[in-house]
Amino acid sequence: MRFTFLVAASAAAILSATAAAQTIDRDQALTDLRILSADDMDGRGTGTEGAERARAYISGRFEEIGLLPAFEDFEHGFTYQRQGASHDGINLVGYIEGTADSDTVMVVTAHYDHLGNCGGQICNGADDNASGVAALLAVAADFVANPPEHDIYFAALDAEEVGLRGAAALVEDFPVDLDRLALNINFDMLGYQEENELPAAGAFHYPFLRERVDRAAVADPVHIIQGYDSPEWGEHGDWTYSSDHGPFHRAGIPFIYYGVDFHQYYHQPTDEYEVMTLDFFLGATQTVLNAVRLFDSELDAVREDRDAARSARPTKPGMGQ
Ligand SMILES: [Zn+2]
Repeated sequence: MRFTFLVAASAAAILSATAAAQTIDRDQALTDLRILSADDMDGRGTGTEGAERARAYISGRFEEIGLLPAFEDFEHGFTYQRQGASHDGINLVGYIEGTADSDTVMVVTAHYDHLGNCGGQICNGADDNASGVAALLAVAADFVANPPEHDIYFAALDAEEVGLRGAAALVEDFPVDLDRLALNINFDMLGYQEENELPAAGAFHYPFLRERVDRAAVADPVHIIQGYDSPEWGEHGDWTYSSDHGPFHRAGIPFIYYGVDFHQYYHQPTDEYEVMTLDFFLGATQTVLNAVRLFDSELDAVREDRDAARSARPTKPGMGQ
């Protein structure tokens, strides 16, 4: 009996070691990056036909991967006000059901919109943020093949470049009660970095995330730098509200934002597939998959830590409540 038990235990250990070492489909990730940043997407400006073509491609990939629609279908339409006019945006949101007996969920985000046509040239936005969407697709595909413990939502967001509007709308209309949402992991710019440095922001606000981010396996050639989330990083170095994690943070949802620092191609027509550092992109995509795996396995503890941090927050004197 003991022998049988040992065999079963080591089989389980082998299975879990395999599950921890899932690898992304590198060819598919490069294909997604290349297609989403191609000229015929016309820079994916929100509200344009280019953005519509990008959406058709992404929802096709959601379908192919096997995500379930988070709304009536993958589309989450919203309106926002900007410069005295009303505009429409469309997020794409799918999810994977978790295997554990838990109602705690996570959301992985990456914006698919970019600047469109800038000054007569196409701003393709390969790094910003075809790279994040390609990584999101790679992570989603891996979780369909190896199911998560918790429900994970995957949101390709619109209207980030005009003020994080898609993220704000999704926080408003989130498919489940926000109390169940323990974490947002946001990808924005994973495609270009000469020094192989990948910042991970968020632990300044949610210190219980720091050790977990450190513990998630980092794939070559990437080095993680935790920070960029407090005033000490300077005027352009505090990214607390610089991308789609901002509206989640404002709603009290812990976040980790993975994305590179500003560079010479940032918001330029030269942000194209041809100049991406592809080894870094693939390493970063594998790294964020490892992180999402680790956070899925500890998501209930993250939620408890979140609630403990909320109740420990001192009430300001004279604030009424
Ligand atoms: Zn971006």
